[in-house]
Amino acid sequence: MAEGNHRVVVLVLDGAKPLDVGIPAQVFTSRPSMPYEVHVCGAAPGLVTGGDGLSYQVAEGLDAFAAADTIFPLNRRTRPPRHRRGGRAAALRLPGLPCGHAAGGPRRDAPGDGRRAVAARRRDRRGDVLSTAWTEPGAFEEAPGVHRIPLPLPQDGLRAVNVYALAVADDLVLIDAGWAIPESRARLIDALDGLGHAPADIRRFLVTHVHRDHYTQAVALRREFGTRISLGAGERTTIEHAHDANRPTLEGQLRILAQMGAQDLVREIAASVPSGSPEDQRRFWEYPDDWFDGQETLQVAGRTLTVLPTPGHTNGHVVFHDEAAGVLFAGDHVLPEITPSIGFDAAVAPNPLRDYLGSLALIRSRPDALLLPAHGPAAPSVHRRVDELVEHHGARLEQTEKAVASGAETGLEVTARLPWTRRERRFDDLDLFNRMLAVCETAAHLELLVSQGRLHAERDQSLDGPIRRFRTA
Ligand SMILES: [Zn+2]
Repeated sequence: MAEGNHRVVVLVLDGAKPLDVGIPAQVFTSRPSMPYEVHVCGAAPGLVTGGDGLSYQVAEGLDAFAAADTIFPLNRRTRPPRHRRGGRAAALRLPGLPCGHAAGGPRRDAPGDGRRAVAARRRDRRGDVLSTAWTEPGAFEEAPGVHRIPLPLPQDGLRAVNVYALAVADDLVLIDAGWAIPESRARLIDALDGLGHAPADIRRFLVTHVHRDHYTQAVALRREFGTRISLGAGERTTIEHAHDANRPTLEGQLRILAQMGAQDLVREIAASVPSGSPEDQRRFWEYPDDWFDGQETLQVAGRTLTVLPTPGHTNGHVVFHDEAAGVLFAGDHVLPEITPSIGFDAAVAPNPLRDYLGSLALIRSRPDALLLPAHGPAAPSVHRRVDELVEHHGARLEQTEKAVASGAETGLEVTARLPWTRRERRFDDLDLFNRMLAVCETAAHLELLVSQGRLHAERDQSLDGPIRRFRTA
């Protein structure tokens, strides 16, 4: 096997049909520009009885999964959630495959029961489970009329941002827009082209939150095409701050770091962050055309979207729920593989973790849906992921409380006692940006524990200003 090839494993179980087996093999091998190898495996090497009376000889058993980048389970029991529109089951679709490149690809309008699920996971050399297949260029139909378009970011941390094109007849609406860099613009134009559209056709941007990787490309494209931009009203303060030349970059974060006793970190960040000219700031953060002010219903691209304010990641974060189609455009509120940072805002809310957990509860109280996140692959159940996130923060709150009980007084001391990232790294081993995020994350947990009466906080006037000291209640 050639090093670096993308390994596609097709699992063939009893009852598989020729089309099931043929489609992945045809799609991946008919594109010589992409280095795929297709492995067909069964429960064990040998003969598999197909659903049409045919038999398949498979050379590999389930251990073929170990090194798979993409897995096609073709069994009847692996149904993805149903997407129904107009009472009909969804057309055959292979979520995760590039669309808009018809040659050799699956017919998306072919009849079928849509029972395929694609899992795309890669195990990197350090042992983290990361999925990278979702970042590959293209437009991927995740549900009928919903196309996921991953766009590149200038920094590698999050790997890519998904924007979603909702297309029906002549109507084209985008959820999120990407980071305004030339590579992202080119990728978006290519993907839209595959859908028979151009940027000028975009009628409206619905933006989940004001962060650069979601908002700035909307502003750039509006300048050329006059596209309407809508954003959550809670982001207004952040945009106002960006226009205020007297406010330093990361002002909110720096204030939290100081209160948490991380003065060294404040100095290190202040020395390394370019503050950006006021012109730059205004250029990136123009105001939207309109604000989502509370829950509302939109009719766009032939569907009904409920706009739900979900403060937490930012003050004005919103998600878009298409209840009829069973899909949730979750922005950064619910991410499938990482936990979103809490309160990463110019004007940090007083208790952002409480806001965030409240927003998770709101989503959990609504019907379950296919999770369409801004970073990471689509996932079958919003509820399942929300439960995991709630559990994560519950455990984190306990660890934080225990750290205080064991003698850590300042936010910085607590942060240094907690493990970070899935790999449980030490705080001191994180880079500067992630150390800042880690302290802010701990601050959010401490704040919630204080508001719950589980901890007490008092101000202590140090040489560097007021520091908060925590103790158990
Ligand atoms: Zn983001």
